[in-house]
Amino acid sequence: MRETNFLIENNARHLWHPMAHPAEMHATPPRIINAGEGVEIVDIHGKKVLDAVGGLWNVNLGYSCEPVKKAIRDQLDDLPYYSTFRGTTNSPLIELSYELAEWFKEDGLSRSFFTSGGSDSVETCLRLARQYHKLNGQPERTKFVALKKGYHGTHFGGASVNGNSNFRRNYEPLLPGVFHLPAPYTYRNPFATTDGAEIARGIARLFEDEIAFQGADTIAALIMEPVLGAGGVIVPHETFMPLMREICDRHGILLIADEVITAFGRTGAWTGSRLWGVKPDLMSTAKAITNGYYPFGAVMISDKVAEAFETNRTAAGSIGHGYTYSGHPVGAAAALATLKETKRLDVAANAGARGEELMAGLQALKANHDLIGDVRGKGLMCALELVSDQAKKSPAAKDVVQKVQDAAYEAGVMVRTSGPNVILSPPLVITAEDVTRILSALDAGLSAAGGK
Ligand code: PLP
Repeated sequence: MRETNFLIENNARHLWHPMAHPAEMHATPPRIINAGEGVEIVDIHGKKVLDAVGGLWNVNLGYSCEPVKKAIRDQLDDLPYYSTFRGTTNSPLIELSYELAEWFKEDGLSRSFFTSGGSDSVETCLRLARQYHKLNGQPERTKFVALKKGYHGTHFGGASVNGNSNFRRNYEPLLPGVFHLPAPYTYRNPFATTDGAEIARGIARLFEDEIAFQGADTIAALIMEPVLGAGGVIVPHETFMPLMREICDRHGILLIADEVITAFGRTGAWTGSRLWGVKPDLMSTAKAITNGYYPFGAVMISDKVAEAFETNRTAAGSIGHGYTYSGHPVGAAAALATLKETKRLDVAANAGARGEELMAGLQALKANHDLIGDVRGKGLMCALELVSDQAKKSPAAKDVVQKVQDAAYEAGVMVRTSGPNVILSPPLVITAEDVTRILSALDAGLSAAGGK
């Protein structure tokens, strides 16, 4: 391998990173991560830290999951690629769609469509939603409703339903006919309350108003994350998603659950929709479906949506959408092995138990650090929102948040920052000792950044 200075220099010169400014690379070079083992990663200097980011919400089983690695190696030997466009398919993929129908049975989802990642899955959901209504004789249902602070990837459709202007402004104009409702965000919301149920009712009222204003017959779908992830781990009140489901049903609007983060156990339930007792019409998944080892995703489709397509024998029911890598056999083999391990290790139960310990520890940190304004989480997706003034809730400065991250890293734990939030999404196989390690590194990080 080349020496460190060569790598840093050429990273800055030739490599543009997602969600980063290319001009920042000299002053603040990214850490070069060269190895992963268990729940730890190792940087180019040989420093080993616990990865409390879990890759990017996706390495749920850690970095040493041999059955998934072996499945990938074996599949590369058998069939490294073949297309699944009309006319051909492959065995691991058929087996995977069978397994996924079992996996998502309780969510009422029985058909799958495969993609290369979360943005592809979101795009697929948006397209299928529009086509569904055309098949049902309602071609004017083309609009989408989404939540502020929602994150739905970076394709143009996904960016259009995103609820964060950082991901929108530089790329406008986006898709027309997209409307946003407030996030179910207890700490900051337009309803001047901290009562989650009241916030849920307030958003429901705004949704009904928007439907009346736009005309229900123009709206294709509501897209939402059951727990908002990238927007700062916003956990809605338990009544929120059921309320949204009920309003969608009453107005013939499809509900798309974007479960790119929440599917496969992260919240402590196997899906975020199940956590709230809701059955979506379409579900986007990706990330943990292959434990992050292979770029892959699946859109899960309900019987209701599937029937509209399957009973229409004209060209209108044909799916004019798909990717070269839809149903990649290596991705399918990786997913099959991941699902097996995910189930065998019962990671949702561990996420629930370790998540409770982590949340209790984070609340204890809040009592000791003025920098923490809010603590949020469900299962093993948690966030600390940092403030410069607890009473005024003024967001902490960027360099303060960065300092927390840097000092936590020094103390042996990688955490992620997003705006004023420190985000935790460790592998779902962490132990109680790992939770203690995360908390003590955060304690050190918060102390280093000042405040009490
Ligand atoms: N949807 C949600 C809820 C996500 O969190 C993400 C990524 O974090 C995406 C979509 C986009 O996924 P990808 O980055 O794999 O394209």
